[in-house]
Amino acid sequence: MTRFKTIDDLGDIAGKRALVRVDINVPVKDGLVTDKTRIERVAPTITELSSRCAKVILLAHFGRPKGEVVPDMSLKPIVPAIEEVLDHHVLFAGDCIGDVAAAAIADMSDGDILLLENTRFHKGEEKNEPVFAKALAANGDLYVNDAFSAAHRAHASTEALAHLLPSCAGRTMQAELEALEKGLGNPAHPLVAIVGGAKVSTKIDLLQNLVKRVDALVIGGGMANTFLAAQGKDVARSLCEHDLADTARTIMAEAAKAGCTVVLPVDAVVAREFKANAENEVVDVDNVPSDAMILDAGPASVEAINQWIAKAATLVWNGPLGAFELEPFDAATVAAAKAAAKRTEEGALISVAGGGDTVAALNHAGVADDFTYVSTAGGAFLEWMEGKPLPGVEALKA
Ligand code: AMP
Repeated sequence: MTRFKTIDDLGDIAGKRALVRVDINVPVKDGLVTDKTRIERVAPTITELSSRCAKVILLAHFGRPKGEVVPDMSLKPIVPAIEEVLDHHVLFAGDCIGDVAAAAIADMSDGDILLLENTRFHKGEEKNEPVFAKALAANGDLYVNDAFSAAHRAHASTEALAHLLPSCAGRTMQAELEALEKGLGNPAHPLVAIVGGAKVSTKIDLLQNLVKRVDALVIGGGMANTFLAAQGKDVARSLCEHDLADTARTIMAEAAKAGCTVVLPVDAVVAREFKANAENEVVDVDNVPSDAMILDAGPASVEAINQWIAKAATLVWNGPLGAFELEPFDAATVAAAKAAAKRTEEGALISVAGGGDTVAALNHAGVADDFTYVSTAGGAFLEWMEGKPLPGVEALKA
């Protein structure tokens, strides 16, 4: 990977106007921020720039206003939550370009923090328009992108702007890119991937990329049923995309060609109802009763997965191994997560996880903090696993 610049490359930033792209697209209910995780993630960068006496100007999107001013999607109500996390006063300007932004910035003292209104109130943002990017650049001397989770989108504030000012990755973006480099960019082998979740259809590109790179690919969750069915097994009432049987067979053939071992469940926990504590039993995947559905990987499958985790030097994980929200169908996900966390803590494994429900699953297992890195970026993490260049990252490369 070409090296990207970091805050360390900026030199003396005192008095400079630093445009900082952050992802603070936080959940809000009744005017209150219900989860501040995203703000907490970007806090180190903001605090560092402010304490180094830059004028810190935050650029962010919120919701999908599609280029119109939608008052309900204003960033202003987020200000108190940012102040609480940063323990610092935060100024606000009602537009991210033009006279309103310029006037607010002209009033700033060194070390001040200013949040500009939703970038997506302008059509030029999502269209990555050069004219809009220039209007943003007019307000800054340098650009710091700390929004990895928005890096899969080529928008003006994530892509075009990086070409107009001296640019670098913020601390969270830096940590994310360093972790991803260890995960798939330049990993220690054996490299094992666990891919679970509901459907193959959402993860075809990801599976095709992984089979070319990893030594073993563990397939779990509902998507494993599609692979089992493609091998001629009867998965009865299980979630299964029968129309993707050919795709599943192609992926397995590509894996065989690349020398990647595909690890599928050999047994399963089945139930008659999709609900917590439904009556259940463990069956061999060749003997799924005709009225049952697979809701989790069975103990023999977990044993096989854990043996791969025990051999792995690097693990990349996306998606749960079963319907983990419904006990006891969380068992396989929890057992594998704990095995990976233990080996990581012992210093024997680099474990990188993220995307969709994966963070929730690892939190549920109580081990999210024990992994080497857990990415809270959804789409960007998946596109990285798919091997696609991320426009927001490419634009930062030195
Ligand atoms: P994804 O967003 O694709 O990672 O899928 C996550 C969802 O897949 C979770 O809500 C799980 O409950 C669901 N899931 C995992 N395994 C199964 C299964 N065997 N049957 C039905 N749903 C499953």
